Amino acid sequence: MQENNKPKINRARRRLIKWGSLSACAIGLGLYWPNRWKYIVVHHSAGNYGTIEFLQQVHRDRQAGDPIDAIPYHYVIGNGNGLKLGEVASDWREQNSLWGAHVSGRNRDRNFRGLGICLIGNFEKDQVPTEQYASLLKLTKELMLRHSIPPSNVTGHGLTNGEMTLCPGKHFPMEQLKKDLMV
Ligand SMILES: [Zn+2]
Repeated sequence: MQENNKPKINRARRRLIKWGSLSACAIGLGLYWPNRWKYIVVHHSAGNYGTIEFLQQVHRDRQAGDPIDAIPYHYVIGNGNGLKLGEVASDWREQNSLWGAHVSGRNRDRNFRGLGICLIGNFEKDQVPTEQYASLLKLTKELMLRHSIPPSNVTGHGLTNGEMTLCPGKHFPMEQLKKDLMV
């Protein structure tokens, strides 16, 4: 029996070492990469409810290969269902300046050097509530100032070259956001 169990234990240990090393590299990279943030990518969650814990679980289910057990975005903005309307929340990915997992592998640079902001809601169906939009505008302006990100580097997920998604939805006011960021 012991002989049969051996490879299992080794596999588990190898996995632990692999993910442990990757996580350590990720944290090191996050801590010692000055002036790294170059883009801001806006998303919607495509669902009506959202908290950090809920999005952590969604991430575990959908992106099981990600060594970072945290939401894929750097910031979430609530819609009053779970998080408060306009409330900005973040996870340890943002707190440790780790890369994001919010765009596809075709755009690695947007994950490595792009801050992901996710608005809870489905803007294929609904309009963005005023308070939620105001929070997004405030947060985006702060991040642009803090990291010297130009308005041209603020995009919606599906408007990013190579991305095949409707995110952040047809009702998301991207043109308005671009105008408001210039003010
Ligand atoms: Zn998205």
